[in-house]
Amino acid sequence: MTHPKNEQTLIIIKPDGVQRNLIGEIISRFERAGLKLVAMKMMTADVEMIKKHYTLDPEWMRLVGEKSIKGLLDKGIEPISRDPMVIAQSVIERLSKYLTSGPVIPMVWQGGHSVSVVRKIVGSTEPVMSDVGTIRGDFVLDSYPMAMADKRCVRNLVHASGTVDEAINEINLWFTSDEIKEYTLANESVIYGF
Ligand code: ADP
Repeated sequence: MTHPKNEQTLIIIKPDGVQRNLIGEIISRFERAGLKLVAMKMMTADVEMIKKHYTLDPEWMRLVGEKSIKGLLDKGIEPISRDPMVIAQSVIERLSKYLTSGPVIPMVWQGGHSVSVVRKIVGSTEPVMSDVGTIRGDFVLDSYPMAMADKRCVRNLVHASGTVDEAINEINLWFTSDEIKEYTLANESVIYGF
């Protein structure tokens, strides 16, 4: 087994994060948790890249659809369809449009249990339901009903890999191996105790 301290995860600062001048704020949240930045670039993604990214996990369509339907029904709002695949298809079209609308910043962060630690720091998908103290909870007020009313995707500043396997596939999609740096931070001896 790979030591958990070497776990890597993919984070993408979405166009709303760049446009709202929150790049430094977002990065500092991961730095202060003790994670190590091992790759980063600014780029404009194309639709093919975004579709590839969101279909790496064959289960993603069903899960995003189910989560969206529940998010609306919990607020007493009827979704446009109760079929998760219909919802997912519209989400992917809207995501493709939004995530290609301006520069994004993909990054790879490494450290102890980085996938779950980063998801905790980022907060839940729908910002209005995200806990205070998380990136989405502190800086965004968007919701499924607002996104649905305006026929756009939920704006929530960042993408973060959901599982370790997803992270491996996503990192391979966004970065070449020579773009990922191997180095030791001085503070690792304090954090990991060697
Ligand atoms: P997360 O980014 O928290 O992992 P998902 O993978 O479920 O969430 O969804 C990917 C992205 O699609 C979300 O971050 C959000 O920007 C957008 N999204 C998800 N569900 C909806 C929806 N019902 N309507 C509009 N946009 C959505």
